[in-house]
Amino acid sequence: MNYQKVLEEIRDEVEPILKKGKIADYIPALKRVDPSHFAISLSLLDGRTFGIGDVDFKFSIQSISKVFTYSMAVSLFGEALHKRVGHEPSGNPFNSLVQLEYEKGIPRNPFINAGAIVITDMLNSKYKAKTFDKILDFIKSVSNNQNINYDKEVALSEAEFGYRNMALINMMKSFKNIKNNVDDIMDIYTKQCSISMSSRELSSAMLFLANHGIDTTTNTQYLTSSQAKRVNSLMLTCGHYDASGDFAFRVGLPGKSGVGGGIVAIVPEKMGICVWSPRLNLQGNSLAGTKALELFTTKTGLSIF
Ligand code: GLU
Repeated sequence: MNYQKVLEEIRDEVEPILKKGKIADYIPALKRVDPSHFAISLSLLDGRTFGIGDVDFKFSIQSISKVFTYSMAVSLFGEALHKRVGHEPSGNPFNSLVQLEYEKGIPRNPFINAGAIVITDMLNSKYKAKTFDKILDFIKSVSNNQNINYDKEVALSEAEFGYRNMALINMMKSFKNIKNNVDDIMDIYTKQCSISMSSRELSSAMLFLANHGIDTTTNTQYLTSSQAKRVNSLMLTCGHYDASGDFAFRVGLPGKSGVGGGIVAIVPEKMGICVWSPRLNLQGNSLAGTKALELFTTKTGLSIF
């Protein structure tokens, strides 16, 4: 398969829609990103890499961080963690408060904000003041890259305008589903969302999930095969907020988006993928990025179905 040629074709085909959609503007720091960026990166398990566009430009990973924190929690706490967070699609926007109240403070899944915040709380019970460092260390480790950090300006902006996340945390605290200090949890969650990575780095960070939990570069086992299956299953069913069904229908791969315009995906036993284009569709997923992934699976036949 000539992957480079496929990526070039995709770039040409998405060109007309790169100006469609709207950049995330819920915090000033994200609004400053040049919306014309576009990148696709592929990291194959056999060591080959392919890319097109701004593959080394670091952007805000936002909700893609939820894949890493959930992976950490699954390996630490196993099935028991699902007493505090479900594994069903929410069918609701990523920051919805309504469903959470109905369902007594138990979020639908770890990939909506409320669910990811509960996961952060679980990690905080274990790691205390070191929690954010542990999250960053995990991401550096699965990426085989020490040059990863968070963007302080984005984190400050997230904290300043994080009224809705604070409301989610407080509501869950009232249902006793947050065990630690609400300000500490808000601080860690905003920092994890503010981590910056390039599409090249993110595609390589997905390799352990494409390979039953094992990083082939270092032979490190991060998850058991069964745990990796659960992370990937949730990416397929819950990875794109209330557009998760649409993403599965169009793309047919486990994937996770973030409002920074990035989307990660995996082809089991083959590769990690990351696309980036900052303009979003109505559900908060990269508009051209989703189209690029749809074209990728159509052209290569590499969907899981
Ligand atoms: N930091 C964002 C928030 O919590 C993450 C949203 C996202 O990427 O979906 O509002």
